[in-house]
Amino acid sequence: MRAQPKASHYVNGSYLDDAQGAELASIHPATGEPIALLRAATPNVVELAMEAARAAQPAWARLKPVERGRILRRAADILRARNDELSQLETLDTGKPIQETTVADAASAADALEFFAGAIAVYNGEMVDLGGPFGYTRREPLGVCVGIGAWNYPIQVAGWKSAPALAMGNAMVFKPSENTPLSALALAEVYSEAGLPDGLFNVVQGYGDVGSALVSHPLTAKVSVTGSVPTGRKVLGLAGSQMKHATMELGGKSPLIVFDDADLENAIGGAMLGNFYSSGQVCSNGTRVFVQRGLHDRFLERLAARTKNIRIGDPFDPETQMGPLISKAQHEKVLAYIETGKSEGATLVCGGNVPSLQGFEGGFFVEPTVFSGVTDTMTIAREEIFGPVMSVLSFDEEDEVIARANGTEFGLAAGVFTRDLPRAHRVVREMQAGTCWINAYNLTPVELPFGGYKQSGIGRENALAALGHYSQVKSVYVETGDVESPY
Ligand code: NAD
Repeated sequence: MRAQPKASHYVNGSYLDDAQGAELASIHPATGEPIALLRAATPNVVELAMEAARAAQPAWARLKPVERGRILRRAADILRARNDELSQLETLDTGKPIQETTVADAASAADALEFFAGAIAVYNGEMVDLGGPFGYTRREPLGVCVGIGAWNYPIQVAGWKSAPALAMGNAMVFKPSENTPLSALALAEVYSEAGLPDGLFNVVQGYGDVGSALVSHPLTAKVSVTGSVPTGRKVLGLAGSQMKHATMELGGKSPLIVFDDADLENAIGGAMLGNFYSSGQVCSNGTRVFVQRGLHDRFLERLAARTKNIRIGDPFDPETQMGPLISKAQHEKVLAYIETGKSEGATLVCGGNVPSLQGFEGGFFVEPTVFSGVTDTMTIAREEIFGPVMSVLSFDEEDEVIARANGTEFGLAAGVFTRDLPRAHRVVREMQAGTCWINAYNLTPVELPFGGYKQSGIGRENALAALGHYSQVKSVYVETGDVESPY
């Protein structure tokens, strides 16, 4: 299986390569075999991309918002028309099952493009009555924005960042994760086909050093990163030292609280979605599942039965429900956490092993894993694992579980399952988390802002909130009388 793109980078409307760049291989995680060999961007490529973005942005910003929106809308339509092809590319690059990529990747990017295409036409400033004189505010683009992506939702992340940036009149230079370089190039082609002028969406490949070269480039006005907390700290520090705007979409260790009165099968379905989708490589996953004592044993029994039925294997088989992890390094990390869980005294309920799958011996698979008897201080309850490892903890009282759920440095998401709606809203109000679900988990429609509290991030993606983070406000005072001057 090969998916070699025409070249490594997409700059100023064309593919571009520089043979001096470090090697960057894309691996199919189900087999461990290379599918494409690319080059990381050299300083020359970074310079060309930044300069193309700078040159293209002012004319784009001067267009009527609805005209920019029309191009994004066309791009959304192309993404949808090409969903099968793009889903296959994403499955090849990420190893995620085709049944997931078909609904959650290019489709989600298309949703973002469609939403911002429409929203931008009504995203206006305010008129402020000053009792004679008046003021108004203008929302203006920032200029050249840098997007840096993670590997779990590559085209989705590229779409979530570029759609509001472009709608608002900015240009973007996007660096995908070094693990998943391919689909951002496909998105760049789609934008060009939709009529986006050259230079407004550029893709450069590379590792962290290319990311930090982009962040510190003098033309960069804003950076938006999706990645881990340690990376976010570095990027925010660098951006802050140069007074640049920054949005951080980082990691989590989110709580999912199940009360005794919850619908059992729905709560288990939510917990499984919130731990095993994309092999557990989802930032907002509810990896600390707090189950109230009265339901705990039944919950665990049914959870184990349903988890054992998960079909793991070839991600291209439409019946497959779980694929491999992204890389050998991630595979080793997740297996080490499973060992730590066992050695710290948690009870392994199911999973925990590398499955033997004929023809996929080189793949990075881990069985869906459930631990019970987990306590708040155990490593697996404190650190983000980013793999299919669920920790089940028991609790007695509402106040107790609120305090324990919030007892983390992270604050990306939280969920609550209960039939008692006043309690659901009461608990959600107390959650120190940017996105909360009541009787659901991990749904992230573009209409709702998405982002983290505490160490999980700064700023928001999606919804009108994202347009705020890709713009700056200009206040204009208009005099309607004479100037009152003491001179
Ligand atoms: P990562 O932090 O290793 O890398 C993220 C991106 O940052 C990559 O493109 C990487 O090349 C780049 N990078 C690394 N060092 C850099 C530096 N010094 N300067 C600039 N760029 C640098 O994260 P990952 O392993 O790719 O993704 C997994 C993490 O992402 C998890 O922690 C997960 O929770 C988080 N994530 C968050 C969200 C969200 O929306 N909050 C979504 C998906 C993933």
